[in-house]
Amino acid sequence: MNPSIPHSDSGEPLYDTEAIQALDAAHYLHPFTDFKALAEVGSRIIVRGEGVYVWDSRGQKILDGMSGLWNVNLGYRRVELADAAYRQMLQLPFYNSFFQTSNIPAAKLAATIASVAPDHMRRVFYCNSGSEANDTIVRMARRYWDLKDQPQRKIIISRHNAYHGSTMAGASLSGMSGMHAQGGLPIPGIVHIGQPYHFEDGAGLTSEAFGLKAAGWLEEKILEVGPENVAAFIGEPVQGAGGVIIPPVTYWPEIQRICDAYGILLISDEVICGFGRLGSWFGCQHFGTRPDFIAFAKGVTSGYFPLGGVIIGDRVADVLIESGGEFNHGFTYSGHPVGCALALENIRILREEGIVERVRLETAPYLARRFHELADHPLVAITEVLGMVAGLVLAPGHRERFDPALEVGMICRRHCFENGVIMRAVGDRMIIAPPLVITPAQIDEMLALIRRCLDLTHAELKVRGQI
Ligand SMILES: *Cc1c(COP(=O)(O)O)cnc(C)c1O
Repeated sequence: MNPSIPHSDSGEPLYDTEAIQALDAAHYLHPFTDFKALAEVGSRIIVRGEGVYVWDSRGQKILDGMSGLWNVNLGYRRVELADAAYRQMLQLPFYNSFFQTSNIPAAKLAATIASVAPDHMRRVFYCNSGSEANDTIVRMARRYWDLKDQPQRKIIISRHNAYHGSTMAGASLSGMSGMHAQGGLPIPGIVHIGQPYHFEDGAGLTSEAFGLKAAGWLEEKILEVGPENVAAFIGEPVQGAGGVIIPPVTYWPEIQRICDAYGILLISDEVICGFGRLGSWFGCQHFGTRPDFIAFAKGVTSGYFPLGGVIIGDRVADVLIESGGEFNHGFTYSGHPVGCALALENIRILREEGIVERVRLETAPYLARRFHELADHPLVAITEVLGMVAGLVLAPGHRERFDPALEVGMICRRHCFENGVIMRAVGDRMIIAPPLVITPAQIDEMLALIRRCLDLTHAELKVRGQI
């Protein structure tokens, strides 16, 4: 029993879970959800969080191996973050950045972000989410080429199984067939190439050779559509929602070489990788690329407030600024003072507590060591880890695969959910992205829970005669 949740005399939590589920089912349409199926089973209601744990309305404690949705990087209930927001709300809860006005947190945060970004990136444009960041980038990249007298450069090349958000442009940039099938997507001018997923597509090749081959698909696509028509290439340093696809080490340097060779802008979607997740401030710093745009959101506020933005490299920013003329784009909440104040506090904590370095030097290597131990499990084909993201493939044998119709990932996810650890299932990949503040002892606890859930999944598949 968790003492800080109100309890009845008999020790039951005072939340009326069924009543909240009924309201939820009757009125709340959830994102990326089968509305009908959810209404039948009822939502799990999360009521509280502290550190790396959350609690549901029935009092169960759950180790959040996904940091919320890849974003609660400092963990739950950081009082300093709440205080920063509260103080700013009393001082100035809102003022817009249109019409030649600004606010102190927005200006300070832009400078602070520039100080941790790659040296050639010094300007920030704000929005409220990762999707809006990518929409902004599409418009900025095309505006840049207009100003460079190459208005025909409109095409953005992305990748299958990428995730770049859910607005019209974000969903179009994403390479998810289920999303494209709804709403007539992608919008014109967005095309896709294959992803650098060695386990799936690299049979017979070393990881290094496959990385070069997968990067080569970009060059093929550029030549197919005409280099003079291509505005930019977009990629996540490590694909997140696609299943923690960690590219071979040869991949990003070759992508950079190809972008340079054809004068194409490089967009690094760092909505997950940004602000420490890979043990560097940004994923591009880990992989050694020099992007023209970085999209950020999620971890910039550790999820305590919706805030996103774009960091713009000098090559583009100088043209946008020097050419004059209005950039006809922005949001009511661009540069929201509360979100910016909170992000400043988030970055202050990341810096003063040395969290990014600790991830790189201590906790990520420890996570890697412990996570790779799962490779001996009879249900696991491969394990992959980089920084604070990790994934494994559920498989009946070393290179065999389960029939997708079995939905083994969903079976495993249910066992995790019921046994107090959050893991996400993407097809037959099980993935984690724990808070950056997770300790080695908590990593041990998480891995013990994960192993137990793999055992339960294995036992269930056996009973069903599926292995
Ligand atoms: C989550 C995510 C987005 C979309 O961000 P929202 O805030 O949900 O709009 C974009 N890109 C990546 C890489 C993401 O993980």
